[in-house]
Amino acid sequence: MQKFSMLSHSDKVAVGVSGGKDSLALLCVLKKFFEEHNRTKLVAITVDEGIHNYREESLQIVKDFCSQIKVETKISSYKDLFGLGMDQAMQQRPSEKMTSCSMCGTFRRRAIDMMAESVGANVVATAHNLDDQLQTFMINLLSGDTERIGWMYPEPIQYGPNSLRKVKPFVEIYEHEIVFYAVLREIPFQSEECPYMHESIRTDIREFLNKLETGHAGIKYNAYNSMTKISKMFKTSYMGPLSHSKECLVCGRNSTGSICSVCKTLQVLAKNK
Ligand code: SF4
Repeated sequence: MQKFSMLSHSDKVAVGVSGGKDSLALLCVLKKFFEEHNRTKLVAITVDEGIHNYREESLQIVKDFCSQIKVETKISSYKDLFGLGMDQAMQQRPSEKMTSCSMCGTFRRRAIDMMAESVGANVVATAHNLDDQLQTFMINLLSGDTERIGWMYPEPIQYGPNSLRKVKPFVEIYEHEIVFYAVLREIPFQSEECPYMHESIRTDIREFLNKLETGHAGIKYNAYNSMTKISKMFKTSYMGPLSHSKECLVCGRNSTGSICSVCKTLQVLAKNK
């Protein structure tokens, strides 16, 4: 956190908590850190995607865990925020080319911003770890999305009308180390897998990287360091477009085009109602 100046003393931090091991471990670590520094402005925010037989378990885990460690929690759903949940979005999508995780990721980023704003936070902390970061880098690389690679540099950027800052305190930590911590601290976590997860190329990339790491210990860390250097270069070259985004003509929020990705997705889905 220090390396990339992620937090300052007056920040109010909203932690994105899904109910998985990574996000509960992050909440636990930040709660401890806040207590040690006499800070109180910590809120857990949880998004209900509207996926039947998947979210119910994790919502209960989040509620119980937050009450156990005495952290305020706020839960909102895609249905409340966008008018439909993921199960409905999957039925209304025009084809499988519109993948579950790309729709869900678009909605989640916006939902987290809106929820953080509604609780008065100026920082959003998410539990993305080294493995996640590397997988996302490869997905962006393979899809030719160099602008998103610029966004990946771990130093926080302020954005949006409320100058939110997004931080990823676990970005240099391997996923298996977080699992180890969660098990040692007896942190409960969700066991159900999302029924839509296998649509994403992420699963294939995760398996590929883990296989490489098994044969060549440390290769993911080396790749992460290369990725960070590359994303810094892209960030510098895209800093103009990143900091001068427009307002979406539909919702008025920041957007790189005339209509933001959330409104575009909702428009496509509305055609198949
Ligand atoms: Fe959403 Fe994909 Fe995660 Fe399922 S696996 S919750 S569809 S991002």
